[in-house]
Amino acid sequence: MSPLPDLSRLCIHTITTKPWAIETSAQKFAAAGVKGITVWRDTLAGRDIKQTGQLLRDHGLSVVSLCRGGFFPGKTATERTKALDDNRLAIAEAHALGAPLIVLVCGAVPGQPLTESRKQIQDGITALLPDCQAAGVKLAIEPLHPMYADSRSAVNTLGQANDMVEALKSPYVGVAADVYHLWWDPALEAEIARCGRLKALFAYHVCDWRTPTIDLLNDRGLMGEGCIPLRQIRAWVEAAGFKGFNEVEIFSTRLWAMDQDDYLKKIVQAYKDHV
Ligand code: ZN
Repeated sequence: MSPLPDLSRLCIHTITTKPWAIETSAQKFAAAGVKGITVWRDTLAGRDIKQTGQLLRDHGLSVVSLCRGGFFPGKTATERTKALDDNRLAIAEAHALGAPLIVLVCGAVPGQPLTESRKQIQDGITALLPDCQAAGVKLAIEPLHPMYADSRSAVNTLGQANDMVEALKSPYVGVAADVYHLWWDPALEAEIARCGRLKALFAYHVCDWRTPTIDLLNDRGLMGEGCIPLRQIRAWVEAAGFKGFNEVEIFSTRLWAMDQDDYLKKIVQAYKDHV
């Protein structure tokens, strides 16, 4: 796979440059030649969401997705209803922002069987489909690394996400494939191809896996700092027909502590060198 010729498919998540307000991210990303932005909901607090979406587009940025919905499982019906309400709010926010897609961190409840949590996730997504259709907003199931199976997601492989997409049979439901969560999976190449056949590969997230990883959540690496075969996985994703953005999504206490202007330069270089 040859290096990407340009930045036309580079998207950065607002969480990647967490110290910046969304207005700052928009301005700096655009100035650096970045073409897409994925918005984390916390950055919208206290803002007019519609106007914020317009501001992003005025900077020439495509709004790629909204992060995040999900967390469907709950021990009681009340908890699960509350989760649905929050997801409906996310759908309304995505609609106002002009984001075509919401990424789902599907959820899990410690001590509840994963099979039961997966059933609750599937039921939750089913309940949202009319809202998705009315708003023109799609949902992307993001399988999470098994280290998060206790409390963050009972969907831990691309195979499980594909199974759910197949069962739901809706053009509004697909998958967000994130290399951080999936790189280790021996079935990855085959499941990416299957996701392509299902026309369900909605998003592709990149970063790297550091050795040793010192924090389960906030020690992701910049592309090139770790062991993920990024070029190989991008080749599989593109062979599956994916033509969307390559989204840089990095949670890192270490990188958030850097001067964020210097960090953005590093992101762009790492994208050219490693994605
Ligand atoms: Zn992701």
